[in-house]
Amino acid sequence: MRLLLLEDDQQLAKGLLQAMVRQSYAVDHFDSVKEGLAAIEYEHYDLVILDLGLSDGSGLDFLKIYRNKQTEPVIILTARDTIEEKIQGLDLGADDYLPKPFDVNELQARIRALLRRSSGRASNQIVYGDLEVDQKARAVSYKGQSISLSRREYNLLEALLSNQGKVMSRANLEQTLYSWDEEIESNALEVHIHNLRKKISSKLIKTVRGVGYMVAEE
Ligand code: CA
Repeated sequence: MRLLLLEDDQQLAKGLLQAMVRQSYAVDHFDSVKEGLAAIEYEHYDLVILDLGLSDGSGLDFLKIYRNKQTEPVIILTARDTIEEKIQGLDLGADDYLPKPFDVNELQARIRALLRRSSGRASNQIVYGDLEVDQKARAVSYKGQSISLSRREYNLLEALLSNQGKVMSRANLEQTLYSWDEEIESNALEVHIHNLRKKISSKLIKTVRGVGYMVAEE
């Protein structure tokens, strides 16, 4: 899962980034409307965390443009907890709203709920044949046996299972795994796929030659 964080309070942003990375999301952080708009030209995000008072203007200006392009969930953060702003944000297509100060655990629970909703699932659990994934605990079991996965192996598995029946391109999967400031080793994706097949089942992930990888629809 790849998230965009637009927040100009550097201290808050730093804390949020640390918390998000611990949850194994890939996160890109910027502090202005301008940079946010530039980022969505190049990247696809599964969710946006949007502060309303950004360094060069209102987060609502970003939201207006974003909603013309993308339907992925947006959660608004604001210090100025006015009813008008909240209504304006929701009218412009924000999916949720969290007044500052907030508990980072609450933000994370809301992010999980929004991601769940946008993928059409009602719970934190993905069941695929003998494979069970608990997205809250980030725990995976296969045929009742718990499987230990690295952060990136887990992210990759979650991305593939969330897109059953669709071929995910290499670029797509790499986006899920890495933030802008992380370097991608050229064969890293193959290594992670190899490990997942070895740890779970060789039949789970199909290679679509020249395109990418997929998990068949159940
Ligand atoms: Ca701000």
